[in-house]
Amino acid sequence: MDDILIKDALIVTCDPAHAIIKNGLITVSDGRITALESSDTVSVDSFRAKKTISANGNIVMPGLINMHCHAADSLFRGLVENLPLEEWLGRVWIAEKAILTPETTYLGSILGLAENLLSGATTVMDMFWYPEETANAAKKLGMRISTGGIFFDLPGIGGRCHEDYISEAHQFSQNHEADENVIPAILPHGSYTVSPENLTDAKRIADEYGILFCTHAAETKAEQNDIKARYNNSVIRHLNEHKLLGENVVLAHCVHLDEKEISLIAKSKTNVVLNPMSNLKLGSGIAPVKEMKRAGINLTIGTDGAISGNDLDMWLAMRLTCGLAKGLNMEADALTAEQVLHMATINGAKALGKSELIGSLEIGKCADIIMVDVNNSHSIPLFDPITHLVFGAGRSDITDVFVSGKHIVKNKKITGIDIEKIYDEVRELAPQIKASLE
Ligand SMILES: [Zn+2]
Repeated sequence: MDDILIKDALIVTCDPAHAIIKNGLITVSDGRITALESSDTVSVDSFRAKKTISANGNIVMPGLINMHCHAADSLFRGLVENLPLEEWLGRVWIAEKAILTPETTYLGSILGLAENLLSGATTVMDMFWYPEETANAAKKLGMRISTGGIFFDLPGIGGRCHEDYISEAHQFSQNHEADENVIPAILPHGSYTVSPENLTDAKRIADEYGILFCTHAAETKAEQNDIKARYNNSVIRHLNEHKLLGENVVLAHCVHLDEKEISLIAKSKTNVVLNPMSNLKLGSGIAPVKEMKRAGINLTIGTDGAISGNDLDMWLAMRLTCGLAKGLNMEADALTAEQVLHMATINGAKALGKSELIGSLEIGKCADIIMVDVNNSHSIPLFDPITHLVFGAGRSDITDVFVSGKHIVKNKKITGIDIEKIYDEVRELAPQIKASLE
């Protein structure tokens, strides 16, 4: 007997064949998908499960993978506005330094990850100051997280220096080597905030443990000018010359690239995360998605932190990615909804090195499943579920979320934590956060 049977579902699998199963059913045992069928061909009665859930005709699909986030920055949402990245960061760091401790980082991480979870993201890649707290928060909520040691050259939060970051990176990588829900990574901030020597130290640790190396790259024109002035090179050439590209590398942003840089990323099989909302709001620019896609780069999608894009909404990120590529190139087929949906699911799993486990609904994979309500005014009639998911659906349509078969959002409510209590704690901290910049 299976643990769960979900029936009466419109299943969008995101598998390699882009299969959609009408009148679909899914069974789950020990956290893994054991059957995916259409009740048009196999009777529901031939399956037995401890718990049967009717999807009521709603879309059932893999959980989204948010490949770039700073969840705990949700504490500072809306605090620094209308500044370009470099000036904006200067203000953000003042507020972060005044407020962040392991405790407030945990609080902010729960807040930011809860927003992700309620929006249907089951896996998040997160870069932040106290990564163990982010990992703890994800565990508390029942989500998957990829995070780990950060690197930053200027005196960082808690007065830590490069040597501290090295030992913390080792520690985190060892602590989570066999952790099912934590995908360890090394996350230096960027090539304009971390020297090539220190970036190389960070990459060495990532390679030693066989884990991911993630950094901000080519986000703004100013960053490209800065790297040119310091090293007489462009950002991606700089990373390439220091052997910081590769299959285990995830670059966040990649807005300002020339042809050669696109080809260096593609040839090295480096992964890219697009963060359209953050890039628009900070006035950073629009990434050359069509060109990167044509070069064969594994493109994924992220929200960035709520302090830059102001929300952690992967549905908005998908819609912007697709719409901007079409509009920028003046080509209605510059990018399809199907390609964008895959960027937000299976491509993220590939970048994380976990495509055999997550990113699509297939037999044997983890039951990371979300349900999307389509019984509403903006979903009827529903001719093409994939177009609907990218251009019509929104995060308020997410009703239920499962990670490894655990029902962690039930009818729009998080089951693992009293989230109202967290909201109260954040409200209590808010005056202090505001005062940090006064
Ligand atoms: Zn970022």
